[in-house]
Amino acid sequence: MSPPETTPRDFIREMIDNDMRTNTWGGRVHTRFPPEPNGYLHIGHAKSICLNFGIAGEYGGLCNLRFDDTNPVKEEQEYIDAIIEDVRWLGFDWEDRLFFSSDYFEQMYQYAVELVASGHAYVDDLTTEQIREYRGDITTPGRPSPCRDRSVEENLDLLTRMRNGEFPDGSRVLRARIDMAHPNMNMRDPIMYRILHATHPHTGDAWCIYPMYDWAHGLEDSIEGITHSLCTLEFENHRPLYDWFIDAINAGRRERGIPPIHHPRQTEFARLNLTYTVMSKRMLLELVKEGLVNGWDDPRLPTICGMRRRGYPPGAIREFMTRVGIAKVNSTIAFELLESVIRDSLNRTAPRYMGVLNPLKVVIENYPAGETEYLDAVNNPEDAAAGTRKVPFSRELYIERDDFMVDPPKKFFRLTQGREVRFRYGYLFTCTGFVRSDGHSDGPGVDGNVTGPPIPKGEIIELRGTIDPASRGGDAPDGRKVKSTLHWVSAPHALDAEVRLFDRLFTVENPAAARGSFRETINPDSLKILRGCRVEPFVGLLEPLTRFQFERQGYFCIDPDSERENRIIINRTVGLRDSWARVRDRDV
Ligand code: ATP
Ligand code: MG
Repeated sequence: MSPPETTPRDFIREMIDNDMRTNTWGGRVHTRFPPEPNGYLHIGHAKSICLNFGIAGEYGGLCNLRFDDTNPVKEEQEYIDAIIEDVRWLGFDWEDRLFFSSDYFEQMYQYAVELVASGHAYVDDLTTEQIREYRGDITTPGRPSPCRDRSVEENLDLLTRMRNGEFPDGSRVLRARIDMAHPNMNMRDPIMYRILHATHPHTGDAWCIYPMYDWAHGLEDSIEGITHSLCTLEFENHRPLYDWFIDAINAGRRERGIPPIHHPRQTEFARLNLTYTVMSKRMLLELVKEGLVNGWDDPRLPTICGMRRRGYPPGAIREFMTRVGIAKVNSTIAFELLESVIRDSLNRTAPRYMGVLNPLKVVIENYPAGETEYLDAVNNPEDAAAGTRKVPFSRELYIERDDFMVDPPKKFFRLTQGREVRFRYGYLFTCTGFVRSDGHSDGPGVDGNVTGPPIPKGEIIELRGTIDPASRGGDAPDGRKVKSTLHWVSAPHALDAEVRLFDRLFTVENPAAARGSFRETINPDSLKILRGCRVEPFVGLLEPLTRFQFERQGYFCIDPDSERENRIIINRTVGLRDSWARVRDRDV
């Protein structure tokens, strides 16, 4: 049973508690998640998704899914489909409220006409470079464009002709008329519309002027009746502009006796940053396009689809967001925290199976050839309801190569010649000898029947030994103890599998700081592919994306390519322990 997802109070929830007490929005809470469909969602977006949908759920409110599709150049249907799949997979439901900013193009244009009519906006003929130059900088006030004092009539005429496609790309823009000396650069007559003869995925060729993000964003929230516009801190100094736009529209409306438009309240929170990864859409796109990873759903990426393929449960991602909380100051969260939440969740829920990643054959000399018995194995010691399953046992098994040493050091309690260990759910086993690949044997004879790539001369290819037939189930009747329990699979019943082990994609905590050369910080060992792994037969029945534990090896999940390629491909989700913490401890 997972513990309930508890939501601690944070400054946003306190603010909404207060709104509810004072009936500020008539008891309404309406939020939205507004992705731009120009890339795949990542774990940073998941924070915003969990916050917006989470808050709506907690206060009996609504949350919209809105595609902020104001830039036709970078936006694609592929991204729209992927975002819908990812938000749904994370466990959230927007019901019938799936919206596109492009649906509001006409409404926004009418608002722009209102601003032009009330003298709050003008058409500017300056080039992009000139506009930048006239803008000044933090220490220098900007200069007014020669077009700034155009008459309302001329501006209305030019804006209409911009819309009608009479002018080429980049020849004119519509700007807000605010203050060219404003200390906040966003307020120095920002651009509202640009001319762009481009086909839009939703509106086709209906428009050749497109709204700028800053003009559009606050209006989209207004049109949808959003009460709480929650966004990340970098929009803090855009808020005065969003407020100005709505105030200016409403000032014009007041003069003409038209009802005002809705004015949402924007609140900023700290974005999620994680160590050893990048969350910039641009960097993610470069990794994918340059083939540095295997697609958007590469399990090493922090994308939602990558994490799904890696085996992260959606509930664990939500739980992680609760643990991280909502703050007003940016910080970076250790990747280990995410992994430990994933591990805790899988520990409660994942069934246990046996799989041998690096197989070494064992022949049990006192077990009849050709015989199979089925032993009871516990599916999940953390969950009695998960029950048991039958695991085949026979004369020939595979164990993990690492679990045997010829000359073990003092603290090595696993197999060596002459030692007894437990085969999990099976028998107590004593190793009596081993065989090297050159045929010389310290124990009895060998059949040399080994699959896989050639084995270097001298390498151990087979163990020999005997079981205590009275120890069926794993314990001897005389109660004698063994120091270690090994996982195993029955050789004739085992299925072949490929197992993919992932490490961090980058070698440094903050790869984005390397900017243009962030590629050089990629970890060359971030993907390790193990072929010829041997897994118990039950694993062959698992559906793609099923999560499970391989005893003693970590948590894994069936890769969706297994079905298409008709073989078993398994991704390691996370190890059983935080191996990085141990590495660090040793370093100090
Ligand atoms: P860009 O705007 O550069 O395309 P973006 O990551 O902001 O990139 P959006 O599609 O605009 O992409 O993001 C949708 C929502 O997700 C926004 O409200 C944004 O604030 C939020 N978001 C994006 N990245 C994070 C993050 N790391 N942590 C929390 N929220 C984020
Ligand atoms: Mg954005």
